[in-house]
Amino acid sequence: MRKQEELNLLIDQFFTCHPETLTEIFSEYLSVIEADSSLQPGGLMSRNYETAQNNPEIHALSGNLKDARDAVFPFFWGTDEWFSKLHLENVKGPANYASLIGSLACLMKNPNLCTDVYSQRSNELEVKAITALANLIFYHTESPWGVFTMGGTISNLYGGKIGIEKVCPGAMEKGIAGTRLAGVVSSAAHYSNQTLAGWLGIGTNNLVTVPTGPDFAMDTEVLESTMDALYREGRLPAFVIGTIGTTDAFGIDDIAAMREIIERVSAAHGHPAPQLHIDAAVGWILSFLTEYDLAANDFGVESEVVPVIAKAQKAAEGFRLADSVTIDFHKMGWGHYPSSAFIVNRREDLQHLMRNKSALPYFCEAEHRRDTALFTLECSRPALGPYSVMASLNGIGLQGYQMLIAHAHEMAFYMKNRLASLDYSVVLNPENCGPSVIWWVLPKGRDAKAIYQRLLKDDLSEKDRRRYFLEIRHLFDKRQALLDIRHDAQLSFTTDCGFAPGGVHLPAWKAVFFNPKTDRAVVDRIVQSIENL
Ligand SMILES: *Cc1c(COP(=O)(O)O)cnc(C)c1O
Repeated sequence: MRKQEELNLLIDQFFTCHPETLTEIFSEYLSVIEADSSLQPGGLMSRNYETAQNNPEIHALSGNLKDARDAVFPFFWGTDEWFSKLHLENVKGPANYASLIGSLACLMKNPNLCTDVYSQRSNELEVKAITALANLIFYHTESPWGVFTMGGTISNLYGGKIGIEKVCPGAMEKGIAGTRLAGVVSSAAHYSNQTLAGWLGIGTNNLVTVPTGPDFAMDTEVLESTMDALYREGRLPAFVIGTIGTTDAFGIDDIAAMREIIERVSAAHGHPAPQLHIDAAVGWILSFLTEYDLAANDFGVESEVVPVIAKAQKAAEGFRLADSVTIDFHKMGWGHYPSSAFIVNRREDLQHLMRNKSALPYFCEAEHRRDTALFTLECSRPALGPYSVMASLNGIGLQGYQMLIAHAHEMAFYMKNRLASLDYSVVLNPENCGPSVIWWVLPKGRDAKAIYQRLLKDDLSEKDRRRYFLEIRHLFDKRQALLDIRHDAQLSFTTDCGFAPGGVHLPAWKAVFFNPKTDRAVVDRIVQSIENL
């Protein structure tokens, strides 16, 4: 080839490791991180969607690694990485640096988890990571198994799919062929359940929503009557998805009661029990606390918070009764995206997803005990999850996680207490454990707690209710407009926190204590900013 020299240059630039060039760029990235740490949340560079589509040109001539750096640099610098203690807005925390170490290792070898051949030793790491997480959540389990997926949505989808195969055997091959399937979730469940009902062919209209009580947990009496009604109408519930840790209020479904109802009602109608899947994308972190000795209280958790931790320990017992669980390590494991795991309590449940090897001619060497491509939704699958999980769990350690989660509980508790002392504010999830606080702020002079009680008793006119809800939103927007991004925390607002008394969706202010750096001073300043409104 005439261009042999140019080809050699290309190979040298892009397919040969030059440690000096790479470390130079890596350290430039690190200095950007350092510079960006002075940015405040919300203080990032203004966006430019206007012309994002206008100039998609790519270089015609080949360049070098610095061209690669320059291509992404404008989108890399000038944005914060959620390390500020003022980030309280949602289910998004900073990724920890142990996870970065793990994830970088993964990127450098770029394994593909589809089969052992393409993952080299990374499938082993996945088995380890899945088993470590399974031991945490199920506590005593014989044969757990699972896989990392692209996110909580997909992990929930696996749970739903196994349920379909259980009640409609052979659906993978035959389709659901006219079987009227349904799924059941609570009104506080994540919208990803709508996604999976739609994508799995059940239809979002057949995802039945059971209301929650004021504790944001599914009303299990209604679950029972709902399931009974479905069977009577000739509809087959394929899955019931409970939530441990709803996204806004950290509601926790009573998994023991759900298990009992599911078994009894399905048996009474002569059908196989639907899959009992738990969406614990956020709430799985409670299982870190299972073994924390509250009597010894080695971390000196504040005495008032000890009962909250006890509640968390009790809630985590629900996992043991689940068929399968969704865990988002990229949420409160402080791991990198995507680190979501789908885990079954009993390995044989994955049989429902197994493909015949003849369907995978290029994986003819596959062995189902280690080659996940035989049952996964994905073909190529990234290994970032296992690397992030094992690096984080072993860097931070069980006790480290216990301390971090206990701290989040202390902060949430402190915030709830401070808000409760304001007459014009009411906390909507006072009794829930977890890192989330949702509340109302009304104009001074209003008795927020009394208004909330009246709403619960259906004693508010629609006109009053609308006015109060507008006030809650207006005050949130006012704080947002007034806040000093150098000192005031970023909060978020939900228009529907999941509990809907009389069918009325409740809005709320929201803060999530995901960030280990957030301290009492941040909370004090939030309360001050509310008092100043
Ligand atoms: C975030 C979340 C999901 C969706 O998870 P992704 O990883 O964002 O796809 C599902 N369920 C709950 C309860 C969540 O909080």
